Amino acid sequence: MSVRLTFVGSGDAFAGGGRFNTCLHLEADGTEPLLLDCGASSLIALKRLSIDPASIGHVALTHLHGDHFGGLPWLILDGQFASRTKPLEILGPPKTRERFDQLLDVLYPGAREAERAFPTIVSEYTERPQTFGPARITAYPVIHTPQTMPHGLRVEYAGKVIAYSGDTEWTDTLIELSAKADLFVCECNFFDKKAPGHLDYETLAARRPQLECERLVITHMNQDVLARADELELEAATDGAVISV
Ligand SMILES: [Zn+2]
Repeated sequence: MSVRLTFVGSGDAFAGGGRFNTCLHLEADGTEPLLLDCGASSLIALKRLSIDPASIGHVALTHLHGDHFGGLPWLILDGQFASRTKPLEILGPPKTRERFDQLLDVLYPGAREAERAFPTIVSEYTERPQTFGPARITAYPVIHTPQTMPHGLRVEYAGKVIAYSGDTEWTDTLIELSAKADLFVCECNFFDKKAPGHLDYETLAARRPQLECERLVITHMNQDVLARADELELEAATDGAVISV
């Protein structure tokens, strides 16, 4: 069975190239969809692609930066006004419950206490693989702003393994995370700039032989990477691109 992965958003935090914040949508015939990350602009991006937000029952988060989890209040309020009844389950790193409550309280005061026709259930990663709706997810700590509790995810979904770096600088953890994966979606924020907490194209291209994944696609690219798209030898995501895994 093949998995269809849609890059709902492939941009960096600051909308480089006018792209949407990071969000991946997985679907397969007969399997519930799964969203990986839901950035601040993700509801707009989902609607632009005609993906019904109310069809998404499970959202897994890599870390607690706004361009990766800031879209949750809009996803929830949109469901409320669209008379959604499907439960929404969110799985994220430690502190997700606390930050999620704070996020809702700041953006839409009163929304957390409001009655909704669907439950919102928030849970957090443990150190072991977890079953989460249609998927089995293993979360690996990676290296990014520590306060965001950064993790990369290894997702078993509809018989395939999809690895996703979240935001991170190079760490050998990425080798384990993506070992034998059918697809590895890896952040590539910079072209050659070495900055803490993020990867750059030069480093990733040099490390490619160490990665045992079947296919590697880079995402979360800033303006500099997009401006040099012609030079990229690694496959790069675009907003709205659908790939079959
Ligand atoms: Zn981040």
